[in-house]
Amino acid sequence: MMRGLYIHIPFCSAKCPYCAFYSETDKDEGLVDRYSEALIKDLESRDNLSFDTAYIGGGTPSSIKPKKLDNLLSEVFKRVSSDKIKEFTVEANPESLSEDFLKVCKDYGVTRLSIGCQSTDNDILKLLGRIHDYDDFVKAYELVRNVMPDADINADLIFDIPEVPFEIIQDSFEKMVALEPEHVSAYSYSYDTGYLEDREKNQSPDQFMFAKYFLEQRGYEKYETSNFAKEGHKCMHNLIYWNLDDYEGIGASAYSLNNLDEKRVVKGKFKDIKLYMSDPLGFVEEMETEGDDLIKEKIVFGLRMLEGVNMPQLEKEYGAVSRELKMKIQSLINDGALEWKKENLCVTQQGELLLDSVSEFLW
Ligand code: SF4
Repeated sequence: MMRGLYIHIPFCSAKCPYCAFYSETDKDEGLVDRYSEALIKDLESRDNLSFDTAYIGGGTPSSIKPKKLDNLLSEVFKRVSSDKIKEFTVEANPESLSEDFLKVCKDYGVTRLSIGCQSTDNDILKLLGRIHDYDDFVKAYELVRNVMPDADINADLIFDIPEVPFEIIQDSFEKMVALEPEHVSAYSYSYDTGYLEDREKNQSPDQFMFAKYFLEQRGYEKYETSNFAKEGHKCMHNLIYWNLDDYEGIGASAYSLNNLDEKRVVKGKFKDIKLYMSDPLGFVEEMETEGDDLIKEKIVFGLRMLEGVNMPQLEKEYGAVSRELKMKIQSLINDGALEWKKENLCVTQQGELLLDSVSEFLW
């Protein structure tokens, strides 16, 4: 089982209206320092500081001054051994991705930069409330290639935006693949942002299928419902989440998951930065999964990955699937939402479009 470390930087240069993630636009230097001190206390309180992957997300990690990021990472890696870390991702946005920021990333062994592009059309970027334009993204992209030629790049794209003509979305995908990032995360505005109600009803199956076929034809394997990678470039850290392996989430609104002997425990931190700083060791949410639900949860999360879940392997680990769950799986197979690919239970193309309903039905 792999272990991941997630560190949340809850600061952004501006708040995008569609975004459901917690972040603050006030980046007063004293506040960033106090938040970093809280992060380190939080980190030190964890039992096991050995990790296979590290991921600094947000918010916008590149929006804090490179010196502040340097100070934070220097404290983190006094406590965490970097030797075992196979993949280290940092998120960045084009307007704040500077050469100094990349130098810090390089010094601490970052292997992957995830850049929020969202669209290559400047009108759409404005519509989304983004503060960068496409040129900013291209400059940021080229800077990463120059300063960190060995690093993987992930680019985020948003499709399925209400009232935006399909040709504009198509053009964004064309321009993006021409740059050849190793990884693309393509999110449906209607489905993934949580901005519109009734996600399944609002999403456009045509654009969902377009994203899949377009990227697959250009050599990106769709390995998770929103994620595409060239061969050998899947994001290991995200696979930890979907495989329900252990991860420690440090920071405001961060979640941690630990597989214990007979249960799986997910714990969450305060969302609000001030509350978090007043009690960086406290958890405000705790959910336990036990008994038959352990295997059920593995199946529900595992179905997000298009290779599906290896059922014999899972039953070896967790015991036989209950009669009730077996019947539900069979009925989803009969309805064309699930299928067997050898020993793996997978979602079909139709099931992919109804993933929320499939998960709810199984749960
Ligand atoms: S989408 Fe990204 S940049 Fe915009 S508010 Fe959310 S975390 Fe910040």
